[in-house]
Amino acid sequence: MDNRPVALVTGAGRGIGRAVSLDLARNGYDIAANDIAFDRSAGAAASPPAELEQAAAALGAAFLAVPGDIADLGRHETMLRAVRDRFGRLDLLVNNAGIPPLERTDILETEAESYDRVMAVNARGTFFLTQRAARWLVEEAQAGRAVRPAVIFITSISAEVSSPSRAEYCLSKAAAGMAARLFADRLASAGIAVYEVRPGIILTDMTAPVKDKYDRLIAEGLVPQGRWGRTEDVARAVTALARGDFGFSTGLCLEVSGGMNIRRL
Ligand code: NAP
Repeated sequence: MDNRPVALVTGAGRGIGRAVSLDLARNGYDIAANDIAFDRSAGAAASPPAELEQAAAALGAAFLAVPGDIADLGRHETMLRAVRDRFGRLDLLVNNAGIPPLERTDILETEAESYDRVMAVNARGTFFLTQRAARWLVEEAQAGRAVRPAVIFITSISAEVSSPSRAEYCLSKAAAGMAARLFADRLASAGIAVYEVRPGIILTDMTAPVKDKYDRLIAEGLVPQGRWGRTEDVARAVTALARGDFGFSTGLCLEVSGGMNIRRL
């Protein structure tokens, strides 16, 4: 019988989360795909998750859609129970769901409402979902059932790079990066690896509103490797971590930014 590990990927409906889900499916994982949008699209046959399920099935993966807003802590138990009922196991959590501020606003004008909204998803929701999933992963690891048990946080170069026009986003990603280190420390002795992946400028719906600006900045040399990041660039990094290529490096922070990590003069 197959011993396919199961990955729960948040924000899997599109963009980076979708690419991560499909790359993990290609590499032997069954997929529990969470997205807030799956609440809205329930019953709509042509929209995700039906399309995503078909794409995962074409790669040989079993698939479960897990609707839910990760900012709603009351949904976490239901979400994880759905994974337990369907697969009976969890091997990998990929914390990908994240939101930018609705508007870019100078840090001198940042509103508490926007701060709370962004933090609720990127930091608070991510932290508590990880906490709940980690308890289950510890049980699975102790019982010897889990295959390379791990948690991967998709943060951002904004965890470190200053953008004073979206302070709340930078702060939320810095918090998520610290959460990755904290869980890495706590879970190491249980045999559970925790990693952070920091994407740079990746072409998705999230960056569509600022595409012209970044086209120009990239043409002017902002990104040493000279192009937009692709969702597949991030997905391949996640898969490498998930399959254990960095097995003695828990707490690793891997930047996927075309060299934006290089300080330049
Ligand atoms: P995206 O295209 O906006 O996709 C994000 C997905 O997550 C959407 O399907 C979205 O649903 C879902 N989502 C949003 N809030 C959620 C919630 N509370 N609970 C569950 N699902 C939720 O974004 P992306 O560019 O792929 O970004 C994915 C992650 O990478 C984010 O954490 C982002 O901060 C990070 N990142 C992105 C870039 C970049 O350049 N794109 C760079 C660095 C880091 P809706 O349909 O409702 O929006």
